[in-house]
Amino acid sequence: MAATPENPTPATARRKTGRHRGEGQWAAGHFTPLNGNEQFKKDDDGLNVRTRIETIYSKRGFDSIDPNDLRGRMRWWGLYTQRKQGLDGTKTGVLEPEELDDEYFMLRVRIDGGRLTTRQLRVIGEISEEFARGTADITDRQNVQYHWIRIEDVPEIWNRLEAVGLSTTEACGDTPRVILGSPVAGIAEDEIIDGTPAIDEIQRRIIGNKDFSNLPRKFKSAVSGSPLLDVAHEINDISFVGVVHPEHGPGFDVWVGGGLSTNPKLGVRLGTWVSLDEVPDVYEGVISIFRDYGYRRLRNRARLKFLVADWGPEKFRRVLEDEYLKRKLTDGPAPAEPAGRWRDHVGVHRQQDGNFYVGFAPRVGRVDGPTLTKIAELAEAHGSGRIRTTAEQKMIVLDVVESQVDSLVAALEALDLRVTPSPFRRGTMACTGIEFCKLAIVETKGRGSSLIDELERRLPEFDEPLTININGCPNACARIQVADIGLKGQLVLDDDGNRVEGYQVHLGGALGLEAGFGRKVRGLKVTAAGLPDYVERVLTRYQAEREDGERFAT
Ligand code: SF4
Repeated sequence: MAATPENPTPATARRKTGRHRGEGQWAAGHFTPLNGNEQFKKDDDGLNVRTRIETIYSKRGFDSIDPNDLRGRMRWWGLYTQRKQGLDGTKTGVLEPEELDDEYFMLRVRIDGGRLTTRQLRVIGEISEEFARGTADITDRQNVQYHWIRIEDVPEIWNRLEAVGLSTTEACGDTPRVILGSPVAGIAEDEIIDGTPAIDEIQRRIIGNKDFSNLPRKFKSAVSGSPLLDVAHEINDISFVGVVHPEHGPGFDVWVGGGLSTNPKLGVRLGTWVSLDEVPDVYEGVISIFRDYGYRRLRNRARLKFLVADWGPEKFRRVLEDEYLKRKLTDGPAPAEPAGRWRDHVGVHRQQDGNFYVGFAPRVGRVDGPTLTKIAELAEAHGSGRIRTTAEQKMIVLDVVESQVDSLVAALEALDLRVTPSPFRRGTMACTGIEFCKLAIVETKGRGSSLIDELERRLPEFDEPLTININGCPNACARIQVADIGLKGQLVLDDDGNRVEGYQVHLGGALGLEAGFGRKVRGLKVTAAGLPDYVERVLTRYQAEREDGERFAT
């Protein structure tokens, strides 16, 4: 049975209070809530808010919502209030949090493994048009996000999503979030192992299970057997990465403790090989360690990465084996260097079965309901019933017979969904930004889109992998620290001394086996208006001065 404030297990109650008692760890017997978030989670499980949404809030309207539900528990069902319209970044710091709340919501649909049928995509598109003013963004965690959702419509949206096997359960909040998966699992010719059965079992066992619905903070996870390392495994709380063990064959290397935002940390290997069947048990063991030993005192120290940093991988593995799995794990190898830097599966690629998959790039993840519906129609017209979302804000149509590929490519390109994008279109990601996010200081999606246009016009010959990630605030939703060019939104001074939207620049971050964080370029801030000039200068100088074999991040 899980340890909870109400029901500490004998084992957790017995454990000695250690030096981290002050961190609010349940395993140290510290069950008294030490901040407001811990208090509202103790008062009522976040999952319980669904009943109130269905029976009270959706019937009586926005003003009937309890504040602890509005700014807390509703996240357990994927709902955040969106930013009140018309507020620019200069006001964010001077307003009370409730003054930023609009009466509309962002609603996140979890798409574990990025797997969708065309029928599901049609429903997502219909909901967008009917209830979300046409909005529907593809996120860098394979989800779809709507905006402009009214609380009155939420039960009907759930009905429609759940009728086709989709949900918003634990899409936000201090919960096990969407499980990233290789978007070409089960079909890619170069696949090491298909992790799909493990994702399904974790979903069945963990998601919506109240043993795991009160975590210290969010818990991000990924499972991929692709040699392209296509799920950003370095920055999840737990990742399973496909490897081949010399004796036991294909399985997974386990990484823990990655995460960006403040105090970014790359995940570390536990040095163990686990089989496909073992993945759900190891996931359950690690999420249980997080629940029991995770730091609950301070929100900004509550992610698993802080515990992993304090313990180190050896102790973490020992606790996992001795206290949770009750057996030793097999030692295993590290993943091999991926063949290329692009991980997004954009382009036309042959599948294991001789058919093809076609990956394409919207602009910075921005699509809309009508476009998603058209993508579903196009896929079906070309004989496909399956779509994938990627961890790079891209999409893929699967199972296209060879004779249909050219027609599908032409039709996608006609919708401005590029199958052969420029490196700028392909490598630029942007978070939600000031358009809808309450934490944002600057605009992101529109600026990312216009930056792509400018760079394509100014540098038509540039043709190598490059990532430009744009955040609207110091958080890391668009992974700025691991981009070649990371842009962190903030207010900066222009030449006339006015405070205007701009970015702190980070250069030279990367994912992959050479993963590392970009260097904050001291004092280097660019205004939004000066951004295209700045990026053009950086890339032009890089092309002129680089040495053979040197890539942008080195
Ligand atoms: Fe909002 Fe900041 Fe995340 Fe962007 S990075 S979505 S502005 S919290």
